[in-house]
Amino acid sequence: MDMTNNIPNSCKVVVIGGGVAGCSTAYHLAKFGWKDTVLLERDVLTSGTTWHAAGLIGQLGSSATITRLRNYSLNLYKQLEEETGLSTGLKQNGSLTVATTSDRLEELKRQVTFAQRFEIEAKEVNKEEIKQIYPLINTDDIVGGVFITRDGQADPVGVANVLAKAAIQNGAKIIEKCPVKKILTKNNKIVGVETNFGKIECEFVVLATGMWSRQIAKEIDVSIPLYPDEHFYILSEPIKEIERSLPVLRDYNNCLYLKEDAGKLLVGIFEPNAKPAFINNYKVPDDFSFGELPEDFDHFEPYLMNAMNRIPSLEKSGIRKFFNGPESFTPDTNYLLGETPEVKNL
Ligand SMILES: Cc1cc2nc3c(=O)[nH]c(=O)nc-3n(C[C@H](O)[C@H](O)[C@H](O)COP(=O)(O)OP(=O)(O)OC[C@H]3O[C@@H](n4cnc5c(N)ncnc54)[C@H](O)[C@@H]3O)c2cc1C
Repeated sequence: MDMTNNIPNSCKVVVIGGGVAGCSTAYHLAKFGWKDTVLLERDVLTSGTTWHAAGLIGQLGSSATITRLRNYSLNLYKQLEEETGLSTGLKQNGSLTVATTSDRLEELKRQVTFAQRFEIEAKEVNKEEIKQIYPLINTDDIVGGVFITRDGQADPVGVANVLAKAAIQNGAKIIEKCPVKKILTKNNKIVGVETNFGKIECEFVVLATGMWSRQIAKEIDVSIPLYPDEHFYILSEPIKEIERSLPVLRDYNNCLYLKEDAGKLLVGIFEPNAKPAFINNYKVPDDFSFGELPEDFDHFEPYLMNAMNRIPSLEKSGIRKFFNGPESFTPDTNYLLGETPEVKNL
């Protein structure tokens, strides 16, 4: 990895952004033959959103394509661990999703049917089985659930580093501390990028700049509907009953997800009324690296109460860390992939 201002004059593809998406793009381009690929990262790899992701890896997606993509990724991480000798921190303890209403249970049962189509091991579980799988849980208001045996969690920084190393092994170049100031176009087609250290001519640009993408693209009149929200989780103090083999737990009725984290519990929320981030000027600062947003305990508290009802040990454990970080979403939460309508080869 290069951290100097030693940039090439030209290449075939510039990937902008060294989060998990950019590292994966650089790896796949190089792997499939486009070796003249250069990834430019503004600061250091993972310094945007990737470093603080909870790292949950579910196999089932909202469509057949997303489900295949997720399974491909899971298998790829295992394969690349062997090829690079680095760890992704992947552990496949499974995931348990519980329902407190019959409607939710119906939805979960459909997931089991959907999983069978893709040969993903999933089964419906009753209250007694839920308690066996997740001994810390309060099942009083639970009507049933689903257990997906090979779901898991990984370390997002580990995943990005594995992909970056594999990208370099396959011939791509990665340059850190090299912000792109502007994407250069001619007749609505990519011709290069302008960086702090000069210009690189290229045929293609892949914008993998996460929550910065909307503002970078706007400068060349390209619309990228990706907006950052504030995303919250807490990390408990160590809880002695927690085992490393604990599966991921999801409770959609109470807007909760939980994972084991070195003997502690990480409790994250997906609430109905999320808070937009950076509302002062709706611009992500250029120097926002490994950044956190201010705590908002009033916003988090109702969900913390839900979490304490679900896992009573949390009432006594105490909170080691309250985390608030930006995560960007499209209006329909699907990925933005493919060429932009406005600029060719972007
Ligand atoms: C609290 C939290 C929990 C999460 N939990 C999960 C989870 O459990 N599972 C899951 O799948 N996802 C999770 N996510 C989502 C996940 O973190 C993101 O989807 C993912 O990290 C986005 O990666 P990215 O590469 O698109 O963006 P980023 O990681 O933000 O990378 C973008 C990169 O672009 C760089 N950049 C920006 N501008 C420029 C420029 N001008 N020139 C060069 N480089 C530039 C930035 O420095 C940054 O490194 C979570 C997110 C949060 C906030």
